[in-house]
Amino acid sequence: MNPKWNGQFSCFDLVARTGEKTGDAARTIVKVGDIEIGGNDFVVMAGPCAVESENQLMQTAVAVADAGARILRGGAYKPRSSPYAFQGLGIEGLKILRKAREATGLAIVTEVMSEDDVEVIAEYADIMQVGTRSMENYALLEALGQCGRPVLLKRGLTATLEELLRSAQVIAVAGNSQVILCERGIRTFETATRNTLDIAAVPVLKAVSHLPVIIDPSHAAGVRSLVPVLSRAAVVVGADGLIVEVHPCPEKAMSDGNQSLTFGEFRHMMDDLQPYLDLQQDARQLRPQLLAVGGAD
Ligand code: PEP
Ligand code: MN
Repeated sequence: MNPKWNGQFSCFDLVARTGEKTGDAARTIVKVGDIEIGGNDFVVMAGPCAVESENQLMQTAVAVADAGARILRGGAYKPRSSPYAFQGLGIEGLKILRKAREATGLAIVTEVMSEDDVEVIAEYADIMQVGTRSMENYALLEALGQCGRPVLLKRGLTATLEELLRSAQVIAVAGNSQVILCERGIRTFETATRNTLDIAAVPVLKAVSHLPVIIDPSHAAGVRSLVPVLSRAAVVVGADGLIVEVHPCPEKAMSDGNQSLTFGEFRHMMDDLQPYLDLQQDARQLRPQLLAVGGAD
């Protein structure tokens, strides 16, 4: 490992790869039912930005499950930049998510914005999502330490990887080491994409931490045409999975329609990823060392 990284991250002892926590066997595998995130599988989470109606979510759940997703995403509590924008269905949304799980067997990931909502959301969700705007909400992170569910921790819009791992450490110190890290694009001077996908974050995080790392190509790109190619990049760079926005009719979506895939586009993307997944499996076997530490220092 790069000695700079070792010095930089070793203080986060519960989430960093230090001391005895260096071998592949020491990686954290987050288990949700029979799904393993951070193991050998590439796990795809997919669904709408927001739960809008039972019909919308059910249709999407069936379509994404059919195309190979294992986990259904959908926000019931939405962090929005404008106070006038759709804020989510709240508890109604959670009930719809539960119905979709019963109908399809998909696990559920949904966002929690406040420590006051942790208990109720944990009753309905399999994975608790911390959004980019909440990465440094320490009261929320601490409450998630005792929620009994794995946490999907998104990187803050302007957060360094060190800050991301600090937040993961806060959750771990509070009692929950089941944390999945998510690179979802950061704010840079570039405006052609909604955010800048920091693809190097994946090998760096996998080198310095034992936590699973996934990519959100939808919020990184901001436009649906880039989502499949960024997903390919996620596979070949060694990510453990994806979280992708999919909507039955993106042009009518109440949030993030521009970056949401149609059912057909999602299925096509999943088919397209397969050869890259096979390639990545072969590469892992041929060069396990190199890939495990994310390349040479
Ligand atoms: C989302 O997943 O819909 C979302 C709001 O993501 P982020 O927190 O990454 O912006
Ligand atoms: Mn969204």
